[in-house]
Amino acid sequence: VAKKSGRNSVFAFEKIMEDRVMRRAETEMALKRAIRNDSIVPYYQPLIDLRSGEIRGFEALARWEAGPNHIIPPSDFIELAEDAGLIVELSERLLRAACRDAMAWPDSIRLAFNISPIQLSDRQMGLRIMNVLMETGLPPQRLEIEITETALVRDMDSATAILGELQAAGIKIALDDFGTGYSSLSQLSKFRFDKIKIDRSFVTGFETDKKREDIVRAILGLGQGLGISTTAEGIEEDHQLDFLKSIGCDFGQGYLFGKPVSADETRQLLEHRGSAASAMDSSAA
Ligand code: C2E
Ligand code: MG
Ligand code: MG
Ligand code: MG
Repeated sequence: VAKKSGRNSVFAFEKIMEDRVMRRAETEMALKRAIRNDSIVPYYQPLIDLRSGEIRGFEALARWEAGPNHIIPPSDFIELAEDAGLIVELSERLLRAACRDAMAWPDSIRLAFNISPIQLSDRQMGLRIMNVLMETGLPPQRLEIEITETALVRDMDSATAILGELQAAGIKIALDDFGTGYSSLSQLSKFRFDKIKIDRSFVTGFETDKKREDIVRAILGLGQGLGISTTAEGIEEDHQLDFLKSIGCDFGQGYLFGKPVSADETRQLLEHRGSAASAMDSSAA
């Protein structure tokens, strides 16, 4: 009896594993299809100059448009794309689409674009990005590449080579989610970033935890000391904005100014406001 039930549980286990492998294979196929038929598109969230209140750029954030009213967030497919070896293709298509969209914006409006740590092990990365810029006509000065801290940890030599190439071409490099990753300060000493994006977790919860205010103040000091501009992520409330402005944070991003929206809505937003119009009309004066 024991032998029999043992065998059954082995079968059951195999069945579960088989289902899992099948499901994963199906999801990968669906992802590959979505990439090839451009169902994964960039949405855009405004980046605000906190001194003037003007929109100075947009961050491209990937969205999988899986059906009417069915939008899948990047947390559900970027890692899968990385694991399935699809991230390079996905990223190149997204960048091409984003550069084309940005070409329809005023010249003063920049494009921020995220790349995965894995892509910094690809020695062709710099060339790929430059090719897309040439193909679409977007000047390198209008592009900002955002990377998370883990990116540099994986393959330091390759990462610094690629980021150096991009900077030499006039592209700005931002360190994303600052303060959350592996050894933030050591990353800052290894590469000359153009900007730091302070992670949302420090901005959320100012009211409950005064230490976070002190940390943000210290990060700004660090940025100033290094001559690097600072952007605060995840600004949702007026009092957060007021505090960040009072301590001299350069740029801000968050639902208070706008959630990520489609390319069409972005163009409409820019036409309505004009590039010089204040994005803070509805919030702080
Ligand atoms: P991220 O680069 O740090 O982007 C900021 C994230 O914070 C976005 O989430 C944005 O929608 C969200 N956010 C902005 N303001 C607020 C706010 O006020 N409140 C809250 N609760 N959230 C806010 P999203 O779009 O889900 O993207 C998540 C992450 O996925 C991004 O974090 C980025 O690391 C990654 N990602 C997005 N698009 C791409 C892409 O094209 N390539 C790669 N490699 N990664 C991407
Ligand atoms: Mg980002
Ligand atoms: Mg971030
Ligand atoms: Mg993030």
